[in-house]
Amino acid sequence: MPCTLFISDLHLDPQRPAITRLFLDFLEQRGRSAECLYILGDLFEAWIGDDEDGALASAVCAGLRDCAGSGTPIYVMHGNRDFLLGRDFAAASGCTLLADPSVIDLYGQVTLLMHGDLLCTDDTDYLAFRDVVREPQWQQAFLAKPLAERRQIARQLRETSIEKTRGKPESIMDVNQQTVVDTMERHAVQRLIHGHTHRPAVHGLTVNGKPAQRLVLGDWYEQGSVLECTPEGCQLQSLG
Ligand code: MN
Repeated sequence: MPCTLFISDLHLDPQRPAITRLFLDFLEQRGRSAECLYILGDLFEAWIGDDEDGALASAVCAGLRDCAGSGTPIYVMHGNRDFLLGRDFAAASGCTLLADPSVIDLYGQVTLLMHGDLLCTDDTDYLAFRDVVREPQWQQAFLAKPLAERRQIARQLRETSIEKTRGKPESIMDVNQQTVVDTMERHAVQRLIHGHTHRPAVHGLTVNGKPAQRLVLGDWYEQGSVLECTPEGCQLQSLG
């Protein structure tokens, strides 16, 4: 049966080699046999520019390229960690960058795909930061700096983010329900798939006065979280 796979929040990092291995195996097996693979953000723990020359980046690009080359289209959406993935990464990995949000036809059902950070509208600090770093001017200035300096800035940003996150109540870090409904109504969809919150679940809700579904992908910190969709429906699975 044809199947489409969705993953997000792998947060690939040289410090977690077992997860990188799990992902490369996933690409070789499940990835190759899928009709299509969507990576909905935060594939990498950090991405400081397409001139990234680390071993992790090249191993992952090679794995993606092999999987895409075997005939599985791979779409990659930016997350809040790897929003600098650009054209050179896409060319090197054989992937297609996907806008956030995007609407696809998934076996006859119109489905909205997002990373998920835009749904967390209670976290106003973060959204203000997001606006800044998504500015083309900020990105051009950042990318013009030497790699070592960018690594240093990325480390600082991550430390600041960990500090800020520590003081925030759990509810602020989750999606805002009204934003979810408004976003789904604006796109006229009854199904939304996203990641980011690391709270894998299938939620039922009402949108446009009709039953709707919000499918949330989990992270890959200790195992892999995969959503497998076929013409018969979608199923959240754990790997590893
Ligand atoms: Mn995220």
